[in-house]
Amino acid sequence: MEYPEEEFLNLAGIQHFAFCRRQWALIHIEQQWNENLRTAEGRILHDNAHNPFSEEKRGDLILSRGIAVSSKTLGVSGICDVVEFHASEAGVPIFGREGKWLPMPVEYKRGEPKKSDADRLQLCCQAMCLEEMLLCGRIPKACLYYGETARRAAVPLNEALRTEVRGMLSEMHELYRRRYTPRVKPTKSCNACSLKNLCLPRLYRTGSAADYIHKRLEEVP
Ligand code: SF4
Repeated sequence: MEYPEEEFLNLAGIQHFAFCRRQWALIHIEQQWNENLRTAEGRILHDNAHNPFSEEKRGDLILSRGIAVSSKTLGVSGICDVVEFHASEAGVPIFGREGKWLPMPVEYKRGEPKKSDADRLQLCCQAMCLEEMLLCGRIPKACLYYGETARRAAVPLNEALRTEVRGMLSEMHELYRRRYTPRVKPTKSCNACSLKNLCLPRLYRTGSAADYIHKRLEEVP
């Protein structure tokens, strides 16, 4: 199956979805966004990495910043912070360059490595877009760079991660099609959520389906 362009979702949304499905829906379906210190710092780090599209060559390596990527089979589009192209026989030709080059996305994050797979899923999704766009076969690994530790971590792009990306995107498309914001149980993660002031009062205020039906029945004259 292929998605038409008008149904493409924002690739970066997969990390919101992995963190909390409700947060993803509030941001990407309801267009609610609350900027706090964390998100502002993250945005500035990204703006610096993306700004503007540029390319440089360092020996057997080509560095491209701010590459736009998309996938019709996943129905997503977004921007890669950095894509490194390494000289390799397993790679693909690049217009204007000699030899073959294997792409490897590198994503910049403000904080430190997370316990969840959110960043790895976003990165894997970028690699899957590149594979589809460049017809380059499987990209075996990608990298995450964390501002707080100032270190890169290699991420193997295995089948389990790829299956999770496909599954999440299919769920995101289904929710988006229905314009449905799911209710979830508040967890400890809510304390770090940039949307907690918008979300939690509404979540607590909303009663159960049984309460709703009772209320409506009481209104019947
Ligand atoms: S406050 Fe909690 S439930 Fe609400 S969007 Fe954030 S993480 Fe999700």
